[in-house]
Amino acid sequence: MNLTQARGPCCKAAGPCSPHPVLLQSLWDYVVCQLAPTVTSPFFPALLAFSCFIAFSLPFAVIDVLGKSCPFLYKYKIQKDKRPTLKMMGLCLRHALYNHTVYVSPAVVINQLWMPVAPLPMAAPTLIELVVEVLGCTLLFDFQYFVWHVLHHRVGWLYKNFHAIHHEYVAPFALSSQYLGSVELLTMGFWSSTNPVLLKCHPLSAWASNVVSIWMSVEDHIGYDFPWSLHRLVPCGLYGGARAHDLHHRKPNTNYAPFFRHWDMICGTTYVEHDKEQEA
Ligand SMILES: [Zn+2]
Ligand SMILES: [Zn+2]
Repeated sequence: MNLTQARGPCCKAAGPCSPHPVLLQSLWDYVVCQLAPTVTSPFFPALLAFSCFIAFSLPFAVIDVLGKSCPFLYKYKIQKDKRPTLKMMGLCLRHALYNHTVYVSPAVVINQLWMPVAPLPMAAPTLIELVVEVLGCTLLFDFQYFVWHVLHHRVGWLYKNFHAIHHEYVAPFALSSQYLGSVELLTMGFWSSTNPVLLKCHPLSAWASNVVSIWMSVEDHIGYDFPWSLHRLVPCGLYGGARAHDLHHRKPNTNYAPFFRHWDMICGTTYVEHDKEQEA
């Protein structure tokens, strides 16, 4: 089949754009032809991140509300005696909305002045390129946040002014993943928007890495250790996930990395809970 014919009138006008068909090309053609005004808006990455935060958090908020009346899921709660209330969830939601309105939106406009949105390429990435680029962005973000996090726990002034708010909850819950100070949120947003540019990623990989990071941040805070949790699926204990981050909220000088465990292992800041402690 002729590739240009297969890709519709919008792409025909733009000319041939990929030397060979790839798995993601049909999806990317649809994005370029139908969604270009939306995805090239400077606000798109922030809106994508915020809607993913809400969509990923809500199912766990429902499990928290149901509590012991949903025993087949609640039995996996890590700190069973600390169930979040609706008031706590509402406060986190209000705080996230406030941060996005007052800080993130103006930051997006300022960012647009020095880093305008680039035109969309016509070719999609291959599946391997997408996976490699998402992994690259996630590993880079993990390293950046690890360094930032260690500094903000070791320097009292930094902790008090920028990170202490996130530790108000000793037992994290999904909606508390964005219960952050404005500086922490803006720093994370800066990395999320500049890392894909630094690594020369395809826009689809940039958005995918954003979605994956939001999922992993929410999963860090869900407060449940499910048998299907990511840290149980990644081999060799290389991924921290909910149990490792829950421990960070209880023992704040351990488990600094947000996602993976290698930096904590190298720096000797890993903390693993033993079975007897879990039962206590
Ligand atoms: Zn946290
Ligand atoms: Zn911390």
